[in-house]
Amino acid sequence: MPYIKGDPWVICDTCGFKVRMSQTKKTWDNLRVCRKDWEPKHPQLSVRGRVDKQAVYDGRPEAADYFLDTNEVTAEKLQEWVTDWFGQIFGGKKS
Ligand SMILES: [Zn+2]
Repeated sequence: MPYIKGDPWVICDTCGFKVRMSQTKKTWDNLRVCRKDWEPKHPQLSVRGRVDKQAVYDGRPEAADYFLDTNEVTAEKLQEWVTDWFGQIFGGKKS
């Protein structure tokens, strides 16, 4: 292995073999590797994420809780509300 001026021996960062500097190449992540170990940067390494807008559209604060008093709703009133509600949903008679 003769001395060649300006072409020193270097160690490949990937395989560890001793090769001439002129037979090596730098990779995108700044490794000096021999020709058989060199490969281009994979395109997936350059993928950038996009900002995900997670805010709720037209958000409003939750309404304050309303608690019924004892006997505030009677069975008759409840029956009336349910009948009215079903009437609106299924197109029946409104009371
Ligand atoms: Zn190598």
